[in-house]
Amino acid sequence: MSSDSTPKPPALKLSDLKYSLAGPAATDTEAPMVQRAVPTEPAGEPVEAKVVIVGSGPAGLTAAIYAARANLAPVVIGGLESGGQLMITSEVENYPGFPEAIGGPELMALFRKQAERFGARIVDVDVERVDLATRPFRLWAAGIEYRAQAVIVATGASALWLGIESETRLRGHGVSACATCDGFFYRDKEVAVVGGGDTALEEALFLTRFASKVHLVHRRDAFRCSRIMEARAVEHPKIELHLNRTIGEVLGTDKVEAVRLVKTDAEGEEILPVEGLFVAIGHRPNVEVFREWLGTDEKGYLAVDGSTTFSSIEGVFVAGDVDDHRYRQAVTAAGEGCRAAIDAERWLETQEAAERTSAAAVPATAGAATRTGAANR
Ligand code: NAP
Repeated sequence: MSSDSTPKPPALKLSDLKYSLAGPAATDTEAPMVQRAVPTEPAGEPVEAKVVIVGSGPAGLTAAIYAARANLAPVVIGGLESGGQLMITSEVENYPGFPEAIGGPELMALFRKQAERFGARIVDVDVERVDLATRPFRLWAAGIEYRAQAVIVATGASALWLGIESETRLRGHGVSACATCDGFFYRDKEVAVVGGGDTALEEALFLTRFASKVHLVHRRDAFRCSRIMEARAVEHPKIELHLNRTIGEVLGTDKVEAVRLVKTDAEGEEILPVEGLFVAIGHRPNVEVFREWLGTDEKGYLAVDGSTTFSSIEGVFVAGDVDDHRYRQAVTAAGEGCRAAIDAERWLETQEAAERTSAAAVPATAGAATRTGAANR
């Protein structure tokens, strides 16, 4: 890769690991804050970039590290909630290289620092609209137009909600999808977690640090999560399982006072008094602004071409949870970000070589118009 010629930065010291980009290192109850970066261009001035990366989770920031080290000076439009799902993940125990585990926000702060060290520019705003009809591709975010020769979409996935009225009404008043953010408020209180995947069990285990009891509600009698998480939850003295149950209603006027459980294997309901409900039932891909442009699969995730990261539009690449509903791990997202940056780098090289060849073959008088055409798809 061309990154071999990039000057080597000083080695990362172990003492660098416990830090956040703003403020002190995280504790169990306090996630580190990432310093927000907002665009500073004068209004009306488009930002030109070889590569624009949309998303700042493990996929987006790994793509940024690789693209920056390939001298592509990427711009990362990271989103208002930059950092992706790891920003609401308490302990990451399976990211290689961190044998003692690392907090999700802390890990993302390290990703970000590494991307910026190599020259990636990160702005923490949401992309509102895109036009992928011709190159340069155009993206609009916070009133600024970004023009890119290649785009990497790494917008990830967002937490799903149950979709019942009482859940929506009491969101922020006892209903949450983030134990890392809100667990602190439930010291010595009883809470419920709904879901049977890794997220639900991780949330339940995290909440045992604060709550007097954690009720884990799952609609089947078998968990979807990894066996190690299941064993920890089943054995934990503070966790009580409520299998074959769904949440029929969240009870309470201004705050959560209980949940009404509905049995899935028999007739009947139960009232479970709790002061908090944590919803951890999976995710949906963040495809909104790209939906009308890029192909999706049967589950609504962005489609890629075979084993590459090529999307349905040449020059637009896809990485991470926005296309992956099978593995959905930080490490697999990071791997895909790496692959997308390499795909983009090689594709840009091919385009530039073709444009040079075509420019050399065209008589000087006809050059300008033909070269413009060649830059478009
Ligand atoms: P998930 O694996 O899709 O699990 C979602 C769970 O919610 C399932 O148990 C599902 O029940 C249940 N559910 C879905 N809709 C529901 C509804 N309307 N009402 C009640 N229950 C509902 O999602 P996830 O736990 O967020 O995990 C996503 C991916 O990230 C997985 O690949 C997981 O391994 C990974 N992950 C890894 C870690 C880690 O390794 N540290 C942490 C978190 C997540 P059914 O089982 O009946 O379908």
